Amino acid sequence: MNKSDSELIRGLLDESGYPLAENWESADVVLLNTCSVREHAERRVLGRLGVLAGWKRLSPNRRVGVLGCMAQRLGASLGELRPCVDFIVGPDGYRRLPELISGRMSAPAADTAFRPEELYGGIRPMRDSGFSAWVTISRGCVNFCSYCIVPYTRGPERCRPAADILSEIESLAGRGFREITLLGQNVNSWRDGEMDFADLLRRTAAVNGLLRVRFMTSHPKDLTERLLDAMAETPAVCPHLHLPVQSGSDRILERMNRKYDRRHYLEIVRRARERMPHLGLTTDVMVGFPGETESDFGMTLDLIETVRFDDAYTYAYSPRSGTAADGFEDAVPEDIRLRRLALLIERQRAVTLLTRKEWVGRTAEILVERPSPRDPGRWLGRTASGLPVAVRNAGAVPGQPVTCRIEGVAGMTLLGRPV
Ligand code: SF4
Repeated sequence: MNKSDSELIRGLLDESGYPLAENWESADVVLLNTCSVREHAERRVLGRLGVLAGWKRLSPNRRVGVLGCMAQRLGASLGELRPCVDFIVGPDGYRRLPELISGRMSAPAADTAFRPEELYGGIRPMRDSGFSAWVTISRGCVNFCSYCIVPYTRGPERCRPAADILSEIESLAGRGFREITLLGQNVNSWRDGEMDFADLLRRTAAVNGLLRVRFMTSHPKDLTERLLDAMAETPAVCPHLHLPVQSGSDRILERMNRKYDRRHYLEIVRRARERMPHLGLTTDVMVGFPGETESDFGMTLDLIETVRFDDAYTYAYSPRSGTAADGFEDAVPEDIRLRRLALLIERQRAVTLLTRKEWVGRTAEILVERPSPRDPGRWLGRTASGLPVAVRNAGAVPGQPVTCRIEGVAGMTLLGRPV
Protein backbone atom coordinates (compact mmCIF):
# COMPACT_ATOMS: atom_id res chain seq x y z
CA MET A 1 0.00 0.00 0.00
CA ASN A 2 2.87 2.36 0.79
CA LYS A 3 4.64 1.60 -2.48
CA SER A 4 1.41 2.31 -4.30
CA ASP A 5 0.95 5.57 -2.35
CA SER A 6 4.52 6.57 -3.26
CA GLU A 7 3.65 6.12 -6.94
CA LEU A 8 0.57 8.28 -6.41
CA ILE A 9 2.63 10.99 -4.69
CA ARG A 10 5.21 10.96 -7.48
CA GLY A 11 2.44 11.37 -10.06
CA LEU A 12 0.85 14.20 -8.10
CA LEU A 13 4.16 16.05 -7.72
CA ASP A 14 5.19 15.50 -11.33
CA GLU A 15 1.90 17.03 -12.50
CA SER A 16 2.57 19.99 -10.20
CA GLY A 17 6.01 20.67 -11.70
CA TYR A 18 8.16 18.72 -9.24
CA PRO A 19 9.85 15.98 -11.27
CA LEU A 20 11.67 13.07 -9.68
CA ALA A 21 15.40 13.62 -9.04
CA GLU A 22 18.04 11.14 -10.18
CA ASN A 23 18.83 10.25 -6.57
CA TRP A 24 18.08 11.64 -3.13
CA GLU A 25 21.47 13.31 -2.70
CA SER A 26 20.86 15.55 -5.73
CA ALA A 27 17.23 16.36 -4.83
CA ASP A 28 15.91 19.62 -3.39
CA VAL A 29 13.20 17.88 -1.42
CA VAL A 30 13.29 14.43 0.19
CA LEU A 31 10.02 12.80 1.23
CA LEU A 32 9.94 9.70 3.43
CA ASN A 33 6.75 7.71 3.05
CA THR A 34 6.52 5.85 6.32
CA CYS A 35 4.98 2.79 7.94
CA SER A 36 3.89 2.56 11.57
CA VAL A 37 2.87 -1.04 11.75
CA ARG A 38 5.91 -2.05 13.79
CA GLU A 39 8.27 -0.11 16.01
CA HIS A 40 11.26 -1.27 13.98
CA ALA A 41 9.97 0.53 10.87
CA GLU A 42 9.63 3.77 12.82
CA ARG A 43 13.11 3.46 14.30
CA ARG A 44 14.54 3.15 10.79
CA VAL A 45 12.78 6.36 9.74
CA LEU A 46 14.23 8.21 12.74
CA GLY A 47 17.68 6.91 11.78
CA ARG A 48 17.20 8.04 8.18
CA LEU A 49 16.13 11.49 9.38
CA GLY A 50 19.44 11.72 11.24
CA VAL A 51 21.26 11.25 7.91
CA LEU A 52 18.95 13.77 6.22
CA ALA A 53 19.69 16.38 8.91
CA GLY A 54 23.34 16.35 7.77
CA TRP A 55 22.30 16.51 4.10
CA LYS A 56 20.00 19.44 4.77
CA ARG A 57 22.71 21.48 6.52
CA LEU A 58 24.71 21.59 3.26
CA SER A 59 22.14 23.85 1.55
CA PRO A 60 19.57 26.24 3.08
CA ASN A 61 16.97 25.45 0.36
CA ARG A 62 16.73 21.74 1.05
CA ARG A 63 13.48 20.43 2.55
CA VAL A 64 12.49 17.23 4.28
CA GLY A 65 8.95 15.86 4.55
CA VAL A 66 7.64 12.84 6.45
CA LEU A 67 4.50 11.28 4.98
CA GLY A 68 2.22 8.34 5.72
CA CYS A 69 1.27 6.47 8.85
CA MET A 70 4.15 7.52 11.11
CA ALA A 71 3.47 11.17 10.20
CA GLN A 72 -0.18 10.62 11.06
CA ARG A 73 0.60 8.88 14.34
CA LEU A 74 3.17 11.33 15.67
CA GLY A 75 1.97 14.57 14.02
CA ALA A 76 3.77 17.77 15.02
CA SER A 77 5.72 15.95 17.75
CA LEU A 78 7.82 14.42 14.98
CA GLY A 79 9.19 17.92 14.25
CA GLU A 80 10.25 18.24 17.90
CA LEU A 81 11.89 14.81 17.76
CA ARG A 82 13.74 15.59 14.53
CA PRO A 83 14.02 19.37 13.89
CA CYS A 84 15.21 18.80 10.29
CA VAL A 85 11.60 17.93 9.31
CA ASP A 86 9.84 20.74 7.41
CA PHE A 87 6.44 19.14 6.96
CA ILE A 88 4.48 16.16 8.22
CA VAL A 89 1.60 14.83 6.12
CA GLY A 90 -0.75 11.93 6.90
CA PRO A 91 -2.21 9.50 4.32
CA ASP A 92 -5.19 11.78 3.53
CA GLY A 93 -3.19 14.97 2.98
CA TYR A 94 -1.02 14.27 -0.08
CA ARG A 95 -2.88 16.75 -2.29
CA ARG A 96 -1.45 19.51 -0.08
CA LEU A 97 2.16 18.54 -0.85
CA PRO A 98 2.81 20.99 -3.73
CA GLU A 99 1.57 23.84 -1.54
CA LEU A 100 3.67 22.70 1.43
CA ILE A 101 6.80 22.20 -0.66
CA SER A 102 6.58 25.66 -2.18
CA GLY A 103 5.77 27.36 1.17
CA ARG A 104 8.26 29.00 3.44
CA MET A 105 7.63 28.04 7.05
CA SER A 106 9.65 28.64 10.17
CA ALA A 107 8.01 25.81 12.14
CA PRO A 108 7.19 22.33 10.82
CA ALA A 109 3.76 22.21 9.12
CA ALA A 110 1.64 19.20 10.02
CA ASP A 111 -1.42 18.07 8.08
CA THR A 112 -2.87 15.00 9.74
CA ALA A 113 -6.57 15.65 9.10
CA PHE A 114 -8.72 12.64 8.23
CA ARG A 115 -10.57 13.28 4.99
CA PRO A 116 -13.07 10.42 4.65
CA GLU A 117 -13.96 11.55 1.12
CA GLU A 118 -10.33 11.40 -0.10
CA LEU A 119 -9.80 8.61 -2.66
CA TYR A 120 -7.24 10.46 -4.79
CA GLY A 121 -9.39 10.28 -7.91
CA GLY A 122 -8.04 12.07 -10.98
CA ILE A 123 -4.35 11.59 -10.12
CA ARG A 124 -2.29 9.40 -12.42
CA PRO A 125 0.32 7.52 -10.36
CA MET A 126 3.87 7.47 -11.75
CA ARG A 127 4.53 3.73 -11.75
CA ASP A 128 7.84 1.89 -11.43
CA SER A 129 6.86 -0.94 -13.73
CA GLY A 130 5.74 -0.69 -17.34
CA PHE A 131 3.68 -3.88 -17.27
CA SER A 132 2.44 -4.48 -13.73
CA ALA A 133 0.34 -1.96 -11.80
CA TRP A 134 -1.17 -1.67 -8.36
CA VAL A 135 -4.64 -0.18 -8.37
CA THR A 136 -5.98 0.94 -5.01
CA ILE A 137 -9.67 0.13 -4.67
CA SER A 138 -10.21 1.10 -1.04
CA ARG A 139 -8.43 3.02 1.68
CA GLY A 140 -8.55 2.70 5.47
CA CYS A 141 -9.94 -0.04 7.69
CA VAL A 142 -12.61 -0.44 10.35
CA ASN A 143 -11.70 -3.89 11.62
CA PHE A 144 -9.73 -2.74 14.66
CA CYS A 145 -7.65 -5.86 15.14
CA SER A 146 -6.46 -5.25 18.67
CA TYR A 147 -2.75 -5.04 17.76
CA CYS A 148 -3.09 -2.86 14.66
CA ILE A 149 -2.46 0.86 14.28
CA VAL A 150 -3.86 1.11 10.72
CA PRO A 151 -7.46 2.13 11.59
CA TYR A 152 -6.00 4.99 13.64
CA THR A 153 -3.51 6.16 11.00
CA ARG A 154 -5.43 5.53 7.78
CA GLY A 155 -8.94 6.21 9.07
CA PRO A 156 -12.19 4.42 8.26
CA GLU A 157 -12.60 2.29 5.17
CA ARG A 158 -13.85 3.96 2.00
CA CYS A 159 -14.27 2.31 -1.38
CA ARG A 160 -13.49 3.80 -4.76
CA PRO A 161 -16.46 3.69 -7.17
CA ALA A 162 -16.37 0.75 -9.62
CA ALA A 163 -16.59 3.02 -12.68
CA ASP A 164 -13.52 4.95 -11.55
CA ILE A 165 -11.50 1.77 -10.88
CA LEU A 166 -12.46 0.11 -14.17
CA SER A 167 -11.73 3.20 -16.21
CA GLU A 168 -8.21 3.37 -14.67
CA ILE A 169 -7.68 -0.32 -15.44
CA GLU A 170 -8.90 0.05 -19.05
CA SER A 171 -6.52 2.95 -19.51
CA LEU A 172 -3.63 0.89 -18.05
CA ALA A 173 -4.40 -2.07 -20.32
CA GLY A 174 -4.52 0.32 -23.29
CA ARG A 175 -1.03 1.55 -22.35
CA GLY A 176 0.39 -1.97 -22.36
CA PHE A 177 0.04 -3.04 -18.71
CA ARG A 178 -0.49 -6.79 -18.48
CA GLU A 179 -0.85 -7.41 -14.75
CA ILE A 180 -3.09 -5.60 -12.26
CA THR A 181 -3.05 -6.00 -8.49
CA LEU A 182 -6.17 -4.67 -6.78
CA LEU A 183 -5.14 -3.23 -3.42
CA GLY A 184 -6.97 -2.52 -0.22
CA GLN A 185 -6.28 -2.86 3.47
CA ASN A 186 -9.12 -5.36 3.45
CA VAL A 187 -9.73 -5.87 -0.22
CA ASN A 188 -12.57 -8.42 0.13
CA SER A 189 -14.89 -5.96 1.84
CA TRP A 190 -14.91 -3.59 -1.16
CA ARG A 191 -18.45 -2.69 -2.30
CA ASP A 192 -20.13 -0.28 -4.65
CA GLY A 193 -23.92 -0.53 -4.25
CA GLU A 194 -25.00 -4.01 -5.33
CA MET A 195 -21.55 -4.83 -6.69
CA ASP A 196 -19.19 -6.77 -4.40
CA PHE A 197 -15.51 -7.64 -4.71
CA ALA A 198 -16.19 -10.91 -6.59
CA ASP A 199 -18.09 -8.90 -9.25
CA LEU A 200 -15.27 -6.36 -9.47
CA LEU A 201 -12.74 -9.14 -9.94
CA ARG A 202 -14.72 -10.63 -12.84
CA ARG A 203 -15.16 -7.21 -14.44
CA THR A 204 -11.44 -6.44 -14.08
CA ALA A 205 -10.43 -9.77 -15.61
CA ALA A 206 -12.70 -9.04 -18.60
CA VAL A 207 -10.72 -5.92 -19.54
CA ASN A 208 -9.08 -6.49 -22.91
CA GLY A 209 -5.33 -7.05 -22.92
CA LEU A 210 -4.87 -8.08 -19.27
CA LEU A 211 -3.09 -11.38 -18.65
CA ARG A 212 -3.18 -11.46 -14.87
CA VAL A 213 -5.27 -10.02 -12.08
CA ARG A 214 -4.16 -10.26 -8.45
CA PHE A 215 -5.44 -8.77 -5.22
CA MET A 216 -4.35 -8.18 -1.65
CA THR A 217 -4.85 -8.21 1.29
CA SER A 218 -7.70 -10.60 2.05
CA HIS A 219 -9.32 -10.95 5.45
CA PRO A 220 -10.50 -14.48 6.28
CA LYS A 221 -13.77 -13.21 7.74
CA ASP A 222 -14.74 -11.57 4.41
CA LEU A 223 -13.58 -14.26 2.02
CA THR A 224 -16.79 -15.50 0.42
CA GLU A 225 -17.77 -18.50 -1.70
CA ARG A 226 -18.63 -16.02 -4.46
CA LEU A 227 -15.05 -14.78 -4.40
CA LEU A 228 -13.59 -18.29 -4.58
CA ASP A 229 -15.94 -19.02 -7.51
CA ALA A 230 -14.85 -15.86 -9.28
CA MET A 231 -11.19 -16.83 -8.82
CA ALA A 232 -11.67 -20.39 -10.00
CA GLU A 233 -13.90 -19.55 -12.96
CA THR A 234 -11.95 -16.58 -14.35
CA PRO A 235 -8.71 -17.62 -16.09
CA ALA A 236 -7.04 -14.21 -15.81
CA VAL A 237 -7.49 -14.14 -12.02
CA CYS A 238 -4.35 -15.62 -10.50
CA PRO A 239 -4.81 -18.61 -8.18
CA HIS A 240 -3.06 -16.86 -5.31
CA LEU A 241 -4.41 -15.85 -1.93
CA HIS A 242 -2.52 -13.81 0.62
CA LEU A 243 -4.62 -14.68 3.64
CA PRO A 244 -3.18 -13.51 6.96
CA VAL A 245 -3.90 -16.05 9.71
CA GLN A 246 -1.87 -14.35 12.49
CA SER A 247 -2.26 -17.22 15.00
CA GLY A 248 -3.27 -20.87 15.17
CA SER A 249 -4.86 -20.49 18.60
CA ASP A 250 -8.55 -19.57 18.91
CA ARG A 251 -7.93 -17.92 22.28
CA ILE A 252 -5.33 -15.59 20.74
CA LEU A 253 -7.38 -14.96 17.61
CA GLU A 254 -10.23 -13.81 19.83
CA ARG A 255 -7.96 -11.50 21.81
CA MET A 256 -6.63 -10.15 18.50
CA ASN A 257 -10.26 -9.38 17.52
CA ARG A 258 -9.77 -11.20 14.24
CA LYS A 259 -13.41 -12.41 14.10
CA TYR A 260 -12.67 -15.93 12.79
CA ASP A 261 -11.37 -19.08 14.39
CA ARG A 262 -8.93 -21.77 13.35
CA ARG A 263 -11.68 -24.03 12.05
CA HIS A 264 -13.11 -21.31 9.83
CA TYR A 265 -9.66 -20.54 8.43
CA LEU A 266 -8.92 -24.19 7.65
CA GLU A 267 -12.31 -24.54 6.00
CA ILE A 268 -11.59 -21.60 3.65
CA VAL A 269 -8.25 -23.18 2.73
CA ARG A 270 -9.93 -26.52 2.05
CA ARG A 271 -12.60 -24.97 -0.17
CA ALA A 272 -10.10 -22.79 -2.02
CA ARG A 273 -7.82 -25.74 -2.76
CA GLU A 274 -10.76 -27.87 -3.80
CA ARG A 275 -11.51 -25.33 -6.52
CA MET A 276 -7.87 -24.42 -7.33
CA PRO A 277 -5.53 -27.38 -6.77
CA HIS A 278 -2.37 -25.35 -7.50
CA LEU A 279 -3.43 -22.38 -5.40
CA GLY A 280 -0.55 -20.28 -4.08
CA LEU A 281 -1.20 -19.55 -0.42
CA THR A 282 0.77 -17.02 1.62
CA THR A 283 0.07 -15.56 5.03
CA ASP A 284 1.14 -13.29 7.89
CA VAL A 285 1.86 -14.85 11.27
CA MET A 286 2.54 -13.08 14.54
CA VAL A 287 4.11 -14.60 17.63
CA GLY A 288 4.37 -13.32 21.19
CA PHE A 289 1.00 -11.56 21.28
CA PRO A 290 0.12 -10.67 24.91
CA GLY A 291 -1.01 -13.76 26.79
CA GLU A 292 0.35 -16.21 24.19
CA THR A 293 1.36 -19.41 26.02
CA GLU A 294 3.65 -22.18 24.80
CA SER A 295 0.51 -24.14 24.02
CA ASP A 296 -0.95 -21.27 21.88
CA PHE A 297 2.36 -20.99 20.07
CA GLY A 298 2.38 -24.77 19.52
CA MET A 299 -1.01 -24.44 17.81
CA THR A 300 0.47 -21.83 15.46
CA LEU A 301 3.35 -24.15 14.56
CA ASP A 302 0.85 -26.94 14.04
CA LEU A 303 -1.25 -24.76 11.73
CA ILE A 304 1.84 -23.91 9.66
CA GLU A 305 2.46 -27.63 9.12
CA THR A 306 -1.20 -28.41 8.50
CA VAL A 307 -1.80 -25.69 5.89
CA ARG A 308 1.64 -25.83 4.24
CA PHE A 309 1.81 -22.21 3.15
CA ASP A 310 3.99 -21.37 0.18
CA ASP A 311 5.41 -18.52 2.19
CA ALA A 312 4.73 -16.48 5.31
CA TYR A 313 5.61 -13.03 6.60
CA THR A 314 6.51 -13.69 10.20
CA TYR A 315 6.68 -11.14 13.01
CA ALA A 316 7.15 -10.82 16.72
CA TYR A 317 4.36 -8.74 18.29
CA SER A 318 5.30 -5.06 18.47
CA PRO A 319 3.25 -2.95 20.94
CA ARG A 320 1.63 0.06 19.28
CA SER A 321 0.54 2.86 21.53
CA GLY A 322 -3.20 3.59 21.32
CA THR A 323 -4.25 0.12 20.20
CA ALA A 324 -6.39 -2.13 22.43
CA ALA A 325 -3.62 -4.70 22.85
CA ASP A 326 -1.25 -2.07 24.18
CA GLY A 327 -3.41 -2.06 27.33
CA PHE A 328 -3.13 -5.84 27.84
CA GLU A 329 -1.10 -6.59 30.93
CA ASP A 330 0.18 -10.08 30.17
CA ALA A 331 2.96 -9.12 27.73
CA VAL A 332 5.26 -11.91 26.55
CA PRO A 333 8.90 -11.06 27.42
CA GLU A 334 11.00 -10.05 24.44
CA ASP A 335 13.45 -12.97 24.68
CA ILE A 336 10.52 -15.42 24.47
CA ARG A 337 8.97 -13.51 21.55
CA LEU A 338 12.26 -13.67 19.65
CA ARG A 339 12.83 -17.34 20.44
CA ARG A 340 9.36 -18.19 19.15
CA LEU A 341 9.93 -16.10 16.05
CA ALA A 342 13.19 -17.92 15.27
CA LEU A 343 11.41 -21.28 15.67
CA LEU A 344 8.54 -20.17 13.47
CA ILE A 345 10.87 -18.92 10.74
CA GLU A 346 12.79 -22.21 10.79
CA ARG A 347 9.59 -24.25 10.59
CA GLN A 348 8.12 -22.14 7.76
CA ARG A 349 11.40 -22.30 5.80
CA ALA A 350 11.24 -26.08 5.87
CA VAL A 351 7.62 -26.03 4.70
CA THR A 352 8.41 -23.51 1.94
CA LEU A 353 11.27 -25.64 0.66
CA LEU A 354 9.09 -28.73 0.68
CA THR A 355 6.28 -27.04 -1.27
CA ARG A 356 8.77 -25.50 -3.74
CA LYS A 357 10.27 -28.94 -4.48
CA GLU A 358 6.82 -30.24 -5.43
CA TRP A 359 7.01 -27.91 -8.45
CA VAL A 360 10.04 -29.63 -9.94
CA GLY A 361 9.01 -31.35 -13.16
CA ARG A 362 5.83 -29.25 -13.59
CA THR A 363 5.25 -26.80 -16.43
CA ALA A 364 4.24 -23.26 -15.49
CA GLU A 365 3.67 -19.97 -17.25
CA ILE A 366 5.61 -17.11 -15.74
CA LEU A 367 5.39 -13.40 -16.40
CA VAL A 368 8.94 -12.14 -16.79
CA GLU A 369 9.85 -9.21 -14.51
CA ARG A 370 13.58 -8.37 -14.61
CA PRO A 371 17.06 -9.81 -15.15
CA SER A 372 18.36 -11.88 -12.26
CA PRO A 373 20.90 -9.86 -10.26
CA ARG A 374 22.72 -13.09 -9.36
CA ASP A 375 22.85 -14.90 -12.69
CA PRO A 376 23.17 -12.83 -15.89
CA GLY A 377 21.88 -15.78 -17.92
CA ARG A 378 18.52 -15.81 -16.14
CA TRP A 379 15.42 -13.62 -15.82
CA LEU A 380 13.16 -13.44 -12.79
CA GLY A 381 9.41 -13.84 -13.02
CA ARG A 382 6.46 -15.30 -11.14
CA THR A 383 4.05 -18.12 -11.67
CA ALA A 384 0.34 -17.25 -11.61
CA SER A 385 0.31 -18.64 -8.06
CA GLY A 386 2.94 -16.05 -7.12
CA LEU A 387 6.08 -18.21 -6.84
CA PRO A 388 9.41 -16.69 -7.91
CA VAL A 389 11.11 -18.37 -10.90
CA ALA A 390 14.55 -17.69 -12.36
CA VAL A 391 14.25 -18.71 -16.01
CA ARG A 392 17.17 -19.45 -18.29
CA ASN A 393 16.44 -17.23 -21.29
CA ALA A 394 18.57 -14.19 -22.10
CA GLY A 395 16.05 -12.95 -24.70
CA ALA A 396 13.17 -12.36 -22.29
CA VAL A 397 11.53 -8.93 -21.91
CA PRO A 398 9.59 -7.59 -18.89
CA GLY A 399 5.87 -8.35 -19.08
CA GLN A 400 6.33 -11.25 -21.48
CA PRO A 401 4.71 -14.59 -20.60
CA VAL A 402 7.08 -17.55 -20.87
CA THR A 403 6.08 -21.17 -20.44
CA CYS A 404 8.80 -23.09 -18.68
CA ARG A 405 9.57 -26.42 -17.14
CA ILE A 406 10.68 -26.26 -13.51
CA GLU A 407 14.05 -27.98 -13.23
CA GLY A 408 15.10 -27.30 -9.65
CA VAL A 409 15.09 -25.00 -6.64
CA ALA A 410 17.82 -22.56 -5.54
CA GLY A 411 17.19 -21.04 -2.12
CA MET A 412 13.45 -20.31 -2.29
CA THR A 413 13.45 -19.58 -6.04
CA LEU A 414 12.34 -22.08 -8.65
CA LEU A 415 14.68 -22.63 -11.61
CA GLY A 416 13.00 -22.88 -15.01
CA ARG A 417 13.81 -23.57 -18.63
CA PRO A 418 11.58 -22.28 -21.46
CA VAL A 419 9.70 -24.98 -23.34
S1 SF4 B 1 -7.77 -5.93 8.96
FE1 SF4 B 1 -6.87 -5.78 11.03
S2 SF4 B 1 -4.67 -6.03 10.62
FE2 SF4 B 1 -5.58 -5.53 8.65
S3 SF4 B 1 -5.42 -3.29 8.51
FE3 SF4 B 1 -7.42 -3.73 9.38
S4 SF4 B 1 -7.13 -3.61 11.60
FE4 SF4 B 1 -5.08 -3.81 10.66
